[in-house]
Amino acid sequence: MAEKVKRVTDIGPPHHDKLMPPICKENYGTWKYHEVLKPGVMVHVGATGDKLYTVRAAGARLVSIYRLRQFADLADKYCDGYLRFTSRHNIEFLLTYDANIDPLIADLAAMGVSVGGIGAAITSIVHTQGWVHCHSAATDASGVVKAVMDVVHPYFNGEKKLPGKLRIALACCLNMCGAVHCSDIAILGIHRKAPRTDHTQVAKICEIPNVVSACPTAAIRPTQVDGTPSVEVIEEQCMYCANCFTVCPSMPLNDPENDGVSIWVGGKVSNARSEPMFSKLAIPYIPNNPPRWPEVTDVILKLVELWAANAKPFERMGEWINRITWPKFFKMAGIEFQKEHIDDFKHAGLTFKRSTQIVH
Ligand code: SF4
Ligand code: SF4
Repeated sequence: MAEKVKRVTDIGPPHHDKLMPPICKENYGTWKYHEVLKPGVMVHVGATGDKLYTVRAAGARLVSIYRLRQFADLADKYCDGYLRFTSRHNIEFLLTYDANIDPLIADLAAMGVSVGGIGAAITSIVHTQGWVHCHSAATDASGVVKAVMDVVHPYFNGEKKLPGKLRIALACCLNMCGAVHCSDIAILGIHRKAPRTDHTQVAKICEIPNVVSACPTAAIRPTQVDGTPSVEVIEEQCMYCANCFTVCPSMPLNDPENDGVSIWVGGKVSNARSEPMFSKLAIPYIPNNPPRWPEVTDVILKLVELWAANAKPFERMGEWINRITWPKFFKMAGIEFQKEHIDDFKHAGLTFKRSTQIVH
């Protein structure tokens, strides 16, 4: 019988078991507890008394190979080669000797890398590709995130205290490759104009049936312009998602005058105390203002400080807002209620508030 050919693939990561530190394998599923020792440093204690120390360093989504090699060298020096990247772009060094913690932090400081973001703190911001790479970005990602992280840094490294965790996310369009739907504060890039269709090019470079079916709100119809097949966009149905531009480069909707960001609040993934929550719209539009986005950084800092001054211990942003009520939150944050806050999407029936009660 012919020997079976073993199928191999280079798609996806290897099984995590292959990369796990030995101490994690030995204590898998049997950790007794963990605690934060100081900003950016925590310990997991196993049933056998084993201790795994984690040092969380600030990372970035875009990291040069030179920087990655520096991190790898530190992992070799202090952690038997073990580190991991968190989903919010932190780098976590996994140590088994507590004597290595402070020398590692000193080496990171010499590289200009902060340690923090564990427990009641702001951690690094998960974000998307922005103007660096993605074709449908309504705002930059790395630029906005750098500007925001610079102003909230004291809440990362423990210089300033917070009542609980605060997670910030950025997605540069509403396809939201970032975790904007489930973060305490979310920055979401938005377009505000329907695509500009170049009717001379659509039939030449786009598959019209694909373009029509790419639209999630059925806003695109086939048409003829001067005898040439093309598409028309029903503007009232367009939600500026850029899906059509993804399949048809003749339908750009990037617009330097009208693109910008919206701010969402109150989302979380955690099951602690309350169910996971979706973020909700707070500020419908702030114009792009590169390179430092001062209007965005001002708003984020204000929201962080408002929550920090008023939340109970461990209370997440959404839990605090639900407790004090959304109308009161809008009042305290100085946010005006606008038409954009009304959820009028045609499938919004499931998300409408169905009770007549409004608690003030
Ligand atoms: S959020 Fe939108 S613009 Fe940003 S990377 Fe994803 S698809 Fe591209
Ligand atoms: S931007 Fe989105 S909603 Fe608007 S026409 Fe294109 S695919 Fe449809």
